[in-house]
Amino acid sequence: MNPFEYQRVDRPKAAVEAMSRTNHAKFLAGGTNLIDLMKSQVEQPTRLIDISRLSLTAIEGLPEGGGRLGALGRNTDTADHPLVRRNYPLLSQAILAGASPQLRNMATNGGNLMQRTRCYYFMDVGFPQCNKRVPGTGCGALHGFNRIHALFGAGEQCIATQPSDMCVALAALEAQIRVLGVRGERKIPMADFHRLPGKTAHLDTNLQPDELILSIDLPSSPYGNHSYYLKIRDRASYAFALVSVAAAIDLEQNQIRSARIALGGVAHKPWRAREAEQVLVGKKATRSLFETAARLAVQGAKTYRDNAFKVEMAEAGVVRALAIAGGLA
Ligand code: SF4
Repeated sequence: MNPFEYQRVDRPKAAVEAMSRTNHAKFLAGGTNLIDLMKSQVEQPTRLIDISRLSLTAIEGLPEGGGRLGALGRNTDTADHPLVRRNYPLLSQAILAGASPQLRNMATNGGNLMQRTRCYYFMDVGFPQCNKRVPGTGCGALHGFNRIHALFGAGEQCIATQPSDMCVALAALEAQIRVLGVRGERKIPMADFHRLPGKTAHLDTNLQPDELILSIDLPSSPYGNHSYYLKIRDRASYAFALVSVAAAIDLEQNQIRSARIALGGVAHKPWRAREAEQVLVGKKATRSLFETAARLAVQGAKTYRDNAFKVEMAEAGVVRALAIAGGLA
């Protein structure tokens, strides 16, 4: 690990000001991803700004409805919180599908959003080609081993996937990310929080360099009774998703009023299947309708040498997640 300076802050504003004064600094919260990456020299910050003592842990209802998850709330506490279990079971399931109990006890909600890809070429500095780690060096995965890589929204610069389970549920629930920077507070819709790689594969999110996540705000949800997070992976626990599906349906007497479908493990950001959602609206929940939606969900998938199997997996996953959410499985 490279030497670095350490600074602890006690207010969000102080954190943001400290970050704005330092090049190559990182916020330190749970550290479950960052410290690993520092040990392997993938991340080499010159300063860690420790935000772990900030008062951003509350999980609470909002006066206008919905809920607020403090950025420093632990993943375990969030998944187990009565508000989340009652109103957003999809989110609770997604969090509990991720990592291990020990990691969830340390990992924070904001940190979960900031997880970096698990692309093998990114994680190992022995591979020289990785535009995400060192811009302009190429993409080792493009013509290399790319079994876990993207189906949607990728390009020649980078075909990595975003690894978080929690973020897939947050995309389906249309969360807003509340952030603070030197110019003040703003909210970023979850759909715009993570980026596609384009020509800037090194940037994972649309956060400005000085911005700190304060909370994840969830709108009221009609999906509490009919939702499901399906994760398909190589082993039953402590593995990242090959494909995951967050499915939620608002059902009235078996008639679908609205639906949300987000896929994980298939793109540089959680991938909303909006056409598939639309085809469900106003129709009776049947398996054949779910199969139609699933075909739409994988339309336009682009495969690479080793990951074509993920198309069939995603299609089957959408059918299964919708069937469970809709009470047909
Ligand atoms: Fe790097 Fe992205 Fe290519 Fe992986 S897919 S080697 S992260 S540029």
